[in-house]
Amino acid sequence: MPGEANHSSSPRAGDAIRPSGSWLARVDAASGAGAASCFGCKKCSNGCPLTFAMDLHPYQVVRYLQLGQIEKLEKCRTIWLCASCQTCLTRCPNEVDLPRLMDWLTETVFKRGEEAAEERVLLFHRLFLNDVAKRGRVFEGSLMAGYLLKTGGAFGVEALANARLGLRMLKKGRMKLLPAGTKDKAWLKALFKEAKEKGDV
Ligand code: SF4
Ligand code: SF4
Repeated sequence: MPGEANHSSSPRAGDAIRPSGSWLARVDAASGAGAASCFGCKKCSNGCPLTFAMDLHPYQVVRYLQLGQIEKLEKCRTIWLCASCQTCLTRCPNEVDLPRLMDWLTETVFKRGEEAAEERVLLFHRLFLNDVAKRGRVFEGSLMAGYLLKTGGAFGVEALANARLGLRMLKKGRMKLLPAGTKDKAWLKALFKEAKEKGDV
């Protein structure tokens, strides 16, 4: 009958997924984010400026982590869309470091060689790092040109809008016309060599 409970498929107490203390201790030690202290007040999500684009709210990321559902997190877009603005950390009564947690999760995906749920963000990170490896500093002009060429934003109407934005930034001094770089290239080379050996880049 409609509305009648189906007892044979009802969940049993043993089916529930519960946080495990040893799992929480391990992920907190690895990420340094303090996720075990979260009590789900949602203050992080209520202040996050990017929830409109996210598939999981920041508090949900912490909750899934507490429950050991790491596969869900590695496939979600939220971890790539977080802008590390620190708003959530400032608002959290328990100092759960969500930006650090998001970084740790994207690093985990990257190191395992798995597909990023937001390929464009990963591409942007790669281009950014390539630029830093070359000069020790980012040159916004070449960074954006490389990004737009690879993502189709350098053509058509979008290209015009981007060119206008670039000009406005130049006029206001928010972007330099020519790239600048660090003088200590040997130090820069050694730094990136070490990061490569560790699998960080
Ligand atoms: S603000 Fe802090 S305690 Fe509250 S849900 Fe977010 S992470 Fe958890
Ligand atoms: S650091 Fe990330 S999750 Fe936290 S408020 Fe900013 S964008 Fe949202």
